[in-house]
Amino acid sequence: MTSNPGAPEAASAPRAVPAPAPDHRRLGRELELFGTDPLIGSGLPYWLPDGAAIRHTLEEFIRDRERRAGYRHVYSPVLGKRELYEISGHWRHYRDDMFPPMDLGADQVVLRPSLCPHHALIYRSRARSHRELPLRIAELGGMYRSEPSGVLGGLTRVRAIQLNDAHVFCTPEQAADEAVAALELIAGAHRALGIRPVRHRLSLPGAGGKYVADPALWERATALLTEVLRRSGVPFEAAEGEAAFYGPKIDIQIADAAGRESTLSTVQIDFHQPERFGLRYTGPDGAKHRPVMVHRSVIGSVERVVAHLIELYRGAFPAWLAPTQLVLLPLSEGERERAERVRGRCLDLGLRVEVAGPERGGLGARIREARLVPYQAVIGPREAADGLLALRLRDGRRIDPLPVAEALARIGALVDACALELWDEPGSPGGGRE
Ligand SMILES: [Zn+2]
Repeated sequence: MTSNPGAPEAASAPRAVPAPAPDHRRLGRELELFGTDPLIGSGLPYWLPDGAAIRHTLEEFIRDRERRAGYRHVYSPVLGKRELYEISGHWRHYRDDMFPPMDLGADQVVLRPSLCPHHALIYRSRARSHRELPLRIAELGGMYRSEPSGVLGGLTRVRAIQLNDAHVFCTPEQAADEAVAALELIAGAHRALGIRPVRHRLSLPGAGGKYVADPALWERATALLTEVLRRSGVPFEAAEGEAAFYGPKIDIQIADAAGRESTLSTVQIDFHQPERFGLRYTGPDGAKHRPVMVHRSVIGSVERVVAHLIELYRGAFPAWLAPTQLVLLPLSEGERERAERVRGRCLDLGLRVEVAGPERGGLGARIREARLVPYQAVIGPREAADGLLALRLRDGRRIDPLPVAEALARIGALVDACALELWDEPGSPGGGRE
């Protein structure tokens, strides 16, 4: 349970789950979040409706945070000419992890191994002035990695990756501030998700020819990232051999229940790719200058962060992420129509709602079936007549019956605030006004 500090109410939910270390692959099957098919291929999971609801919510959440932080979103294709990756350096330093190129007329195209080159070209698509900088370009985009089949599993090692990525093009003087701001954006998103990283790592190059050779640029980027970490006040450890091929990076590490670490979020300062792509901006002096690229990912790949959240919450997701947020339980067919009307109001408010009627079994069985749903409302003749909603929370608390509009507004406000708590005040244990 120590691995589960962000899930205050999860302690009462695990009855749902047999016991030991949560495994997102097993939970993903049981909860019907995602799956694979040998005909699609290993490392290529598909997302079922409940998993897709979580993913969609997460993607909208991150886009909203980025918009508020001054990012502009783009879309770019998942393919590019081989030549593009020769320029970026991926072809030379990263080819073993890329899918083989496809012949297309006189060209060869490849599935992209990263989004950076496309964003560099978007920057380069017209002349840039220092007044536009920092220019923050973000995309939740697909990229591909040719992982050997032996290491593939669930959502943590996949061949098709949806990356939360962004590149900040800025002056060298702005780079440290942008990286500090990126770390703050990351910390805020982790708080909303209940994720507690285990450490910050300053990832440096190691031995071997994996890295571009330009000692002066490596030193400059490393000095800047070290300054960024000091300014952010987070403890960190340096690790050799973990850098990107084009520069050092700050990696924010998470761990699963078994203590296995992986990188969730990253911030990098890159002098190399602006050089390779010949990026420029016009300075206040009227001369051309080279921008810096700050690469950053707030939640990393959607696959990995969802895998982590599944294990963290064991299916008992915070209300704002839950695939179904509210389940309505009409006591008998007599209350069906009332339940359907409440369902309609929930849909109008953007809530994910289900009606579980008597055809799905006795009330006790339906409540058990909905045990991972944050909010349940039993609708009996009295609630139907009075226009009230008597909410039961997933953690067992019962809320005094409230007028439907008020109950839904309270849930909506908690969802909008990405609250980790299910209710904003302690519920009365016996359920109030009876
Ligand atoms: Zn990048």
